[in-house]
Amino acid sequence: MLGYTPEEWQADPGLWRRRLHAEDRERVLGEIARAEESGGAIEIEYRILDRGGEVRWMRHEALVHFGTAGEPAQTEGLLTDITERKAFESQLQFLADHDGLTGLFNRRRFLEELAQELRLVERGQEPGCVLMIDIDNFKYINDSLGHQAGDSLIRAVAGILERRLRAADVLSRLGGDEFAVLLHGTGSEQAATVAEGLLEALRERVHLLSGEPVHITASVGIAELEPGAPPEGALAAADLAMYEAKRSGRDRLARFSPHMHVRAEEGRTWAEEIRTALDHDRFQLYCQPIVDLRTGAVAQHELLLRMRGRDDELIPPSSFLPVAERFDLVQAIDRWVVGQAVHLVGERRRAGSPIRVAVNLSGRSMGDPALTSHLRKELSRGPAEADDLVLEVTETAATANMDLARSFAERVARLGCRLALDDFGSGFGSFYYLKYLSVNYLKIDGEFVRKLETGRIDQEVVRAIVGLAGSVGTRTIAEFVGDQPTYDLLSDYGVDYAQGFHVGAPRPVGTI
Ligand code: GH3
Ligand code: MG
Repeated sequence: MLGYTPEEWQADPGLWRRRLHAEDRERVLGEIARAEESGGAIEIEYRILDRGGEVRWMRHEALVHFGTAGEPAQTEGLLTDITERKAFESQLQFLADHDGLTGLFNRRRFLEELAQELRLVERGQEPGCVLMIDIDNFKYINDSLGHQAGDSLIRAVAGILERRLRAADVLSRLGGDEFAVLLHGTGSEQAATVAEGLLEALRERVHLLSGEPVHITASVGIAELEPGAPPEGALAAADLAMYEAKRSGRDRLARFSPHMHVRAEEGRTWAEEIRTALDHDRFQLYCQPIVDLRTGAVAQHELLLRMRGRDDELIPPSSFLPVAERFDLVQAIDRWVVGQAVHLVGERRRAGSPIRVAVNLSGRSMGDPALTSHLRKELSRGPAEADDLVLEVTETAATANMDLARSFAERVARLGCRLALDDFGSGFGSFYYLKYLSVNYLKIDGEFVRKLETGRIDQEVVRAIVGLAGSVGTRTIAEFVGDQPTYDLLSDYGVDYAQGFHVGAPRPVGTI
């Protein structure tokens, strides 16, 4: 078994003892001494070096026989080579502890590490932090470039995080596009600095997937460990904070605070309401006219979504859309709206009085190729025409992921629909982004329109947007037009269209 001849073995009684693995020697000799002292069986497993210096695992079962004076006289037993079994066991242990795709710790092991850390915290060690990291809009990569590209991106992200962290930090992949880090003895201030570093490292890297350059970002939630709390509690807190980061625009971090628990509870209730509304057709569309400032004629209508609550009250989208995003319900809502819009313009074509309508899409749908294929299918049935539809996305959603926005713009153009950039001017880089994104309409952020008459800066901004839009062949729409002086000013500046209470209030769709 160990490569020695029986003669060599017998000639050197100390050989076995010398070949014992240094880390096991003390335990093994102690166990044998105990058996020689007090009798009984020996049953131990240990490592030994064979003749060539390779480590072998032994199972050692033996019985000590005693002489008439009670002295240990002879040991009789069996040595079994269990090296293969041990290798198999450690492989099983590895599989049970690690994620197959990245080789990082898995959720099970991470929770164990957290539990261990929490025990130390209870004994007075400085509490550390948990980071929860989730890739932004990862589904889009999977859907557009394939699952394999998604897998290689996950591996790349694991590598970036691993390189950026210290050896003592515990990194794991919890599943999907979600990673978690345990930072030992790190307060939340310092953890935020670490998280910023990770976000930056992810943002900087360009990935080549199926031959295409892809940028990604992630959102991070930070929670401090609390003595006495269960490990799952720390993860759940970091998770809530991570969703807060997603909610406030992605590519950022958020630190946990207890009010998030309350919000999550409310969120679940809301999500139930939204599901019920989807199932029971409790969504309703209103429409608001957009007029041509040169002719005064209605050029298009914007469709505005409302939800009917339990008591039939009308709920505005600002109350339910953030929850719909959080619970992945927003794509279903967008599909419903698009379906209704196609139906509406189709009806009007049939009746011989075509109209153009604008629908608002969430940032999520922008990254959802299923939406444009759904739209293509709906349009193919006729009589609605693609040109009757304007798709609106907010500037914030578009600039949050430019790669995604550009390919969305291309798909929309290929369909033959028009594209509008809503809330234009609300971001700092608006003008910069326009260089890369071709759209048909810029909807000037209402912030600049509301007090246009008295706001010097507002006036300059609106004029600048009109000048810029004119030079790239994009039409401008001003929202929140509340009175005639504003209307007149906009017309003077050369804004193309106006929308707002002064022009026409939203009305239920059936009444136009
Ligand atoms: P968000 O910005 O809100 O995080 O949006 P997201 O598109 O990244 O959505 P989310 O994190 O909720 O979904 C992650 C997706 O990852 C869901 C699933 O399709 C995909 N996924 C889960 N496990 C794997 C995997 O092992 N490999 C690949 N390629 N994809 C996976
Ligand atoms: Mg994600």
